[in-house]
Parts: sequence; C-alpha cells; structure tokens
Amino acid sequence: MESAEIARRFLRFFEERGHTIVPSASLVAEDPTLLLVNAGMVPFKPYFLGQRKPPANRLTTAQKCVRTPDIDEVGKTTRHATFFQMLGNFSFGDYFKDGAIPFAWELLTRSEADGGFAFPEERLWVTVFEDDDDAVALWHGKVGVPMERIQRRGLADNYWHMGVPGPGGPCSEIYYDRGPEYGREGGPIADENRYLEVWNLVFMQAQLAEVRSKVDFDVQGELPAKNIDTGMGLERMAAILQGVDNIYEIDTTYKILDRAADLTRTRYGRDQRADVSLRVVADHVRTGTMLVADGVMPGNEGRGYVLRRILRRSIRNLRLLGSGDERYMHELTAVAIDVMGRQYPELVADAPQIHGVIDAEEASFLGTLRTGTAIFDVAVEETKRKGGQVLAGTQAFQLHDTYGFPIDLTLEMAAEQGLKVDEEGFRRLMREQRERAKADAAAKKTGNADISVLGQILERAGRVDFLGYDQTVAESE
Ligand code: ATP
Ligand code: MG
Ligand code: MG
Ligand code: MG
Repeated sequence: MESAEIARRFLRFFEERGHTIVPSASLVAEDPTLLLVNAGMVPFKPYFLGQRKPPANRLTTAQKCVRTPDIDEVGKTTRHATFFQMLGNFSFGDYFKDGAIPFAWELLTRSEADGGFAFPEERLWVTVFEDDDDAVALWHGKVGVPMERIQRRGLADNYWHMGVPGPGGPCSEIYYDRGPEYGREGGPIADENRYLEVWNLVFMQAQLAEVRSKVDFDVQGELPAKNIDTGMGLERMAAILQGVDNIYEIDTTYKILDRAADLTRTRYGRDQRADVSLRVVADHVRTGTMLVADGVMPGNEGRGYVLRRILRRSIRNLRLLGSGDERYMHELTAVAIDVMGRQYPELVADAPQIHGVIDAEEASFLGTLRTGTAIFDVAVEETKRKGGQVLAGTQAFQLHDTYGFPIDLTLEMAAEQGLKVDEEGFRRLMREQRERAKADAAAKKTGNADISVLGQILERAGRVDFLGYDQTVAESE
C-alpha cells in the first residue's frame, strides 16, 4: 500500500465517522513556543486550550511534522525520521476513550477491502497509563484484546502534557509485533524495536496547575470538556504495510536512497556505515525539501539553522559515501519532489524555487568543507600523533571562526575519528571573542558620533550571529 493511500484511507475512515478533514498546516508553526510543528495536535492547540472554537467537534488530519531531537537516531533505529506525517483524529468535547479506542482498533484490523489496514489482531499490543482502568476495560472488555497484550506503564511513557499548566492526560499506545527476527518477546516494555509503536491515543482529561517536569506536576482537577488527540505515524505504517525493514525503505524515501546509492556507486545492504549514511541522506533530503517548500530558508538561527544543519548533514554523508566535490543535491531533491509530489502537488509547481535554495546551500557548504576539512585533518593527525583523545578548544574555535565550521560539525567529524572535542574551551574562546567585540564597539562609540552609529550596527549584527550559534549549540545538546 502506497503512502498516499495510507493517508487517504485514514482520513476517509474518520470522515465516514463524522470527522471534518482539515489540510495539513505548514511546518512553520504559528505557535511562538515552537520552531516547527512536531505533532498533529500543534495547529489545534488553541482549540484544546479553549482560546478558539474548532470548526467542528471532530477533526481529522495528516499533519507534516519535523522532529530535530530525533536527528541522531536517523538511520540507526528503524523508526525515526526527521520529517514524518502524523495521521490524527481529534475530538473536542465530543467522544472520549470509549470512542477513540474502538475506532483505532476497527481501522487497524478491518479488511483492506473494507477500507482498513488488515493487521492480524494477534500482532497488536497496547500500553495504558498505570492506573487507567477505564482504558483497560475498553481494550479488554469492549475490543477484546487479551490481558497479556495490555501493558501498564508509568508517567514517563504514558502521560501526556504540554510542559506547562494546561491540559494533560493519560495516553494509550498501539504497537505492532514485527516478529522474533526483530528482537525479544515480552511486548513493548521489553523491546521497542521488535514492537513498533504506530499510534498514540491521548485522553485529555485533566487540568494541570503546575508542571515541574515530564513526571512531576500537580493536577488541579478534571477538564470541563474531555478531548481526544491521536497520532499515527504514516511512515511506520508504510514500513509494515510495504513489508520493509525500516522507514527509510518505504516508497517515499527509498527512491531517494536508491538514487544516492547509484550516484555514489554504493551498494545498499553491504556495509553498515554506508547504509546509515544512505538512510541519513534519504531522510534529510526529504526533510530539507519539505522545509524549503514551506518557506524556510537556510540561516544561522532558529528554523533556518535546523534546515541548514539538515542540508549540511546530507551533503556530508554524501561525501562520506565518496561523492567528493560532485554536486548531487539537485538530482536527489528532484527525486524527493517527485515522490512527495503525490501527496503535496504544490512541490512540483515550486520545484525551481526549492532547487534554487538547496543548490545554493550546497555550493556554499562544499566550499566551506573543502578548506575546513583540510585544516580539520591536520588537527586530528596532530592530536593523534601526540597520543591525545581530545581535539583542543582552540582548534575547534579556529575551524569555526576562520573556516565557518559549525561546532556540531566538528563534534560529529571528531566522533567519527574516535576523538572528543574540548567544548568547554571552545565556548570560552567564543565568549572571549564576543567580549572583545563588545569592548571594540564601546571604544568606537566614545570616539566619534558617526562611527558610534556604525559601531552599534556592527555590534548588533555581530551579536545576532553569535547568539545564533550559541543558542543552536545549546539546543542541540
Ligand atoms: P518513539 O517512542 O518511537 O520515539 P514517540 O512516543 O516519541 O515515538 P509520539 O510522540 O507518541 O511518538 O508520536 C505519535 C506517533 O508518531 C508515534 O506513535 C509514531 O508512530 C510517530 N512518530 C513519532 N516520532 C517519529 C519519528 N521520529 N519518525 C517517524 N514517526 C514518528
Ligand atoms: Mg520519540
Ligand atoms: Mg514512544
Ligand atoms: Mg508515543
């Protein structure tokens, strides 16, 4: 079953059950607390918070999502992409657990001819929040899941909230058993690789007063209107339904991977490191394409930096695969536009603009890499010759300051060489440089009125630049 068909089926199923289909919102979140949309419910936050009235009590979406915290997992686990689509059904004060649980089960197990996904019941496991007896009663009593395949989990896994005072509630997750070749038996508690999480059902029922951490908060009381928020991973469903090992091998990603293998004359499935690189390239090219299509431009801060990091990681992994100075991003982006264009036809119309942005970033980064890598190699050799295991902060600083190497790139490249980096030293040098720049600007200010204006502008520009790096460094830690 093609990805586009999985989305269609999901939306149709819920539309037939009284839900209004809402098109995916842009990846660029309206929500000021988020850089990018990372879950299906994000565009609906104002409805859940009671700040705005939803267009209907039942909605359903296939929402584009980006999760940068998952970036280091990409290519290594079978299930984490940086871009993915979350299929969801939402109820605002309408049905609650007793509606959401049977809906989910019906869609997953119903025959393909009847619009379902035809999962064999014995492959499905569910988790519930530890004291959520209602959910257990529904899964077991109403739906018929045997007690052995219902597992209870604590706050860290099965309780949802937004990290701030507001709505929260227990959740219940559905897992697909991929079989003994994928790991240990014993349900999701034992092995989340064998038991693949496909769907999360959130039962928003509590009003949280204070939230100190994921697992430490005060419940003020029950919400006046109880809500449902669910998220099913389209790419994970596709991996199962297309019978492939991981989400990088599904229809909308494998073609990019395959093209990258062709271009770099690499055979997928032969060498583990090369396989990870191919998966990273496929995943990141797809994510980069979707971000640019939603208007994100590469930059040194915020979402621009997320995009830049993703594009640069694709290019670097192509180089690890032996691309040398060849420029392959154009062709790979073209494949991404083609495969994703089935669900997002606007990509095809916007292709020239998307290519323009990605090609330009590639050209500039290849230049940076050429000079920087030579310097980096010397630094690594020197460190190793002296028997050291840590690249000096001064070297990381020089790479950043003179050759435009972002610190996370230095960290990654050093790790590949089995070296650490003196990050503390790097950060100290960054701080010192910032203070010098400030002092210079202050000195200029006292000298001459005209220069003082110029100084302020320079200072501001300089500070923006530095803040950008510092912030993103902090974020990626
Ligand atoms: P995991 O535990 O596997 O990291 P999660 O619990 O973080 O997943 P949720 O926040 O519950 O995921 O998101 C709802 C659904 O979205 C998941 O059940 C999964 O199917 C899908 N999903 C989440 N993160 C990713 C990702 N990085 N790539 C692909 N699909 C994802
Ligand atoms: Mg996760
Ligand atoms: Mg999970
Ligand atoms: Mg989950």
